[in-house]
Amino acid sequence: MVTTHETDKYVYDFAEGNKDLKDLLGGKGANLAEMTNLGLPVPPGFTITTGACQAYLATGREPDGLAGQIEAHLEALERAMGRRLGDPQDPLLVSVRSGARFSMPGMMETVLNVGLNDRSVVGLSDQAGQNDRFAWDSYRRLIQMFGKTVCEVPGEEFEHALDEAKRAKGTHDDLDLDADDLRGLVETYKKIFAKHTGREFPQEPREQLDLAIRAVFESWNAERAILYRRQERIPADLGTAVNVVTMVFGNLGPDSGTGVAFTRDPGSGAQGIYGDYLANAQGEDVVAGIRNTVPLQELERLDKTSYDQLLDIMARLEGHYQDLCDIEFTIERGKLWMLQTRVGKRTAAAAFVIAGQLVDEGLIDLDEALHRVNGAQLAQLMFPRFQLDHEFEAVARGIGASPGAASGAVVFTSARAVELAAEGKSVILVRRETNPDDLNGMIAAQGILTSRGGKTSHAAVVARGMGKTCVSGADEIEVNVPAKRFNVGGRTVSEGDVVSIDGTTGKVYLGEVPVTPSEVVQYFEGSLDPERTDDALVRAVHRIMTHADARRRLAVRTNADTGADAARARRFGAEGIGLCRTEHMFLGDRRELVERLILAATETERTDALAALLPLQRQDFVEIFREMAGLPVTVRLIDPPLHEFLPPLEQLAVNVAVAQERGEDVAKEEALLAAVRRMHEENPMLGLRGVRLGLVIPGLFAMQVRAIAEAAVAVTRDGGTACPEIMVPLVGAVQELETVRAEAEKIIAEVVGDSGVEVLIGTMIEVPRAALTAGQIAEAAQFFSFGTNDLTQMGWGFSRDDVEGAFFWRYLELGIFGISPFESIDRDGVGRLIRIAAEEGRAARPGLKLGVCGEHGGDPDSVHFFHEVGLDYVSCSPFRVPVARLEAGRSAIETTGSDSR
Ligand code: ADP
Ligand code: MG
Ligand code: MG
Repeated sequence: MVTTHETDKYVYDFAEGNKDLKDLLGGKGANLAEMTNLGLPVPPGFTITTGACQAYLATGREPDGLAGQIEAHLEALERAMGRRLGDPQDPLLVSVRSGARFSMPGMMETVLNVGLNDRSVVGLSDQAGQNDRFAWDSYRRLIQMFGKTVCEVPGEEFEHALDEAKRAKGTHDDLDLDADDLRGLVETYKKIFAKHTGREFPQEPREQLDLAIRAVFESWNAERAILYRRQERIPADLGTAVNVVTMVFGNLGPDSGTGVAFTRDPGSGAQGIYGDYLANAQGEDVVAGIRNTVPLQELERLDKTSYDQLLDIMARLEGHYQDLCDIEFTIERGKLWMLQTRVGKRTAAAAFVIAGQLVDEGLIDLDEALHRVNGAQLAQLMFPRFQLDHEFEAVARGIGASPGAASGAVVFTSARAVELAAEGKSVILVRRETNPDDLNGMIAAQGILTSRGGKTSHAAVVARGMGKTCVSGADEIEVNVPAKRFNVGGRTVSEGDVVSIDGTTGKVYLGEVPVTPSEVVQYFEGSLDPERTDDALVRAVHRIMTHADARRRLAVRTNADTGADAARARRFGAEGIGLCRTEHMFLGDRRELVERLILAATETERTDALAALLPLQRQDFVEIFREMAGLPVTVRLIDPPLHEFLPPLEQLAVNVAVAQERGEDVAKEEALLAAVRRMHEENPMLGLRGVRLGLVIPGLFAMQVRAIAEAAVAVTRDGGTACPEIMVPLVGAVQELETVRAEAEKIIAEVVGDSGVEVLIGTMIEVPRAALTAGQIAEAAQFFSFGTNDLTQMGWGFSRDDVEGAFFWRYLELGIFGISPFESIDRDGVGRLIRIAAEEGRAARPGLKLGVCGEHGGDPDSVHFFHEVGLDYVSCSPFRVPVARLEAGRSAIETTGSDSR
């Protein structure tokens, strides 16, 4: 509920604001105020607050008091400038510019030259020294922008009329249109305006101003803005501020112009001058790319005084903001004006490099450097990249929906993708849009390319879930599935042709682009020495990672099932294994033993099968314990339903039928088939698995516990150290854990003897009931590890394999959640279960060791949550370990939660 009072202050002069008032004045307004107060040349103006916008959007009308305050500030502006808005002789003109708390590029509206009308256009020309061309050019821009943004006149109509005028003149350049041409164009524009709006173009300057302000308010709720916010997770209720700024003119002649600049290279972070300049133009021409800009360095030749002043201001801004700034400026007849600045967006590499440079320059400390980078950026830097040179030119550009670099033969159907992948070929699945039927093809493909859909399309969501490279919405591509080809820029690409896609930049290339490994990964793997390299990125990453490690409270472990995984994860900085799954130890040539176990008809047959498995399991653990050299290793007892180890029903049925036909002996196949039928489950995810298996199949857990304990003893006898932690999956009631534990402790005591080996026994918390009865469970558990995948599945009541392909894209599109709860922990629901379990578990057993395994352990936002909740460690896949280390460090220095924007 928005309440308004006569006394609410809705309008702030630039001199009244500062950079810290972004919530109130928006980013643009706050920074215009900051520059004004620094004494930089900013055209005078004022800002209408986000509060006024919120009130307008809530009630559908301007809040009481707003009109009066605008009037007062406008009068003050007019007095200061010695001109009145739209005065026929000497008009004051203003721009009306949106500017929200978070930058939303291209989403919101701006109207320039407000105050021009049929009479003041003449005054403007007089004031500019009878510069008719300039005055009419400004007027036609006003009608165009006002028509399009305020009155929803289709922009193409104006553009067509402009093209028409140029064609009639036989030119392609706006500058060749003279005053008469532009006067004619204004007439045409006015007709277009009247045709679409049913009224004449408003001549009253104050009405123009009010309508423009209202349009900016309303642009907050334009469809594209809503969509953008949802994708970028910007809250929907912030509203935008509106800046009313005295116009300065870059289109007054060759001694005028406009440009944009960065204080460092936003691509690499390198120091230097980066920017574009366009003489004799208004600001929007630079962004729109209507005419070709020149590099900013050219300005030195054109106008040395302004150039020097600009460099000087850029240096001051950097010093003041202590960061890379981007700026917009305009030069009016040799006088420089600053129109915008903000801390500039940058690539992941530049973020690290700049943070490192600023520490070197003494502008920020290492905590601040750590704050300014994030795990998502680090993750990006760990993907292999395309090695691009001039040979490769992108043929299309879509949305970088799921990062990575992939090359492969083009296929258009899921079936074909599966076929070619089975032959060992890399394929790129190309579709207009994907749907759940494409799932197998997506799994088989190296990468996915679609011509439609955004960051929350089916393709994007599923690809991210699978960690597969994806470019979505590359709309220059015309996909023709029946003809097995696509067209792009006049070229045809047929099935089997090779393309390369970059899931970070969204670019699409023809042919196979070679891939370079990430230097950051080389550094983590130890093959690039950060002290010796001249790679600025690696040095910066090393420095910031070292600081993150020094700062973090959370330990970082890895999920690893083999000695090789464990070794790699240790190089990435893992401090133990948080999840060692034992099910792979039942696969391959050991399957046969598992089948014997399942089919065992007698006690002896079963014990024999288990006895045969024991030494194999023991050897697996010996390898892992050796590799982890005294670091804790959490081993999860077998979790999946046993029928997962048997051949699929259909296959068995066919085998039996075929064998019978041939008159072969089918006793074993028939027994297996019967077992598969018997063990069939409607909902395997909720069936006989985890601790339930251990309780139902005698000797199964006992064999695993024995293998773990014997391995630990063996490693210790060899002079090593092993710290096993046995983890029981899927516990929902303390009685389950107590039963397993009693048996396990007996075995451990017997095996360990006086070897000095200590084995902990704990449980996963992954069934909601376990979280809710954590106090009881803690009585029997020496540690908890949150299994956030299952906790999310069971907390929400959906099975991941089914829902991600089937409807998550729709949920994301509708904004039911901003990000998949499998990607980032659902703080309110699943997170609450974790909080309850952590608190009640520790209350029952002080000092209870708490960790998390499951991919959330490597998700930046989730890591912050686990830090807040007070867990001891997170565990994630080896590749995510550095990301978790970085974010754990960031959580430790950020007391106010995460703000990675
Ligand atoms: P955006 O947020 O899309 O960059 P802006 O509000 O910054 O939109 O304005 C669009 C263009 O108009 C920019 O190039 C800006 O520099 C220019 N501009 C805005 N206000 C003025 C003004 N008062 N005088 C001259 N140019 C302006
Ligand atoms: Mg701008
Ligand atoms: Mg689980």
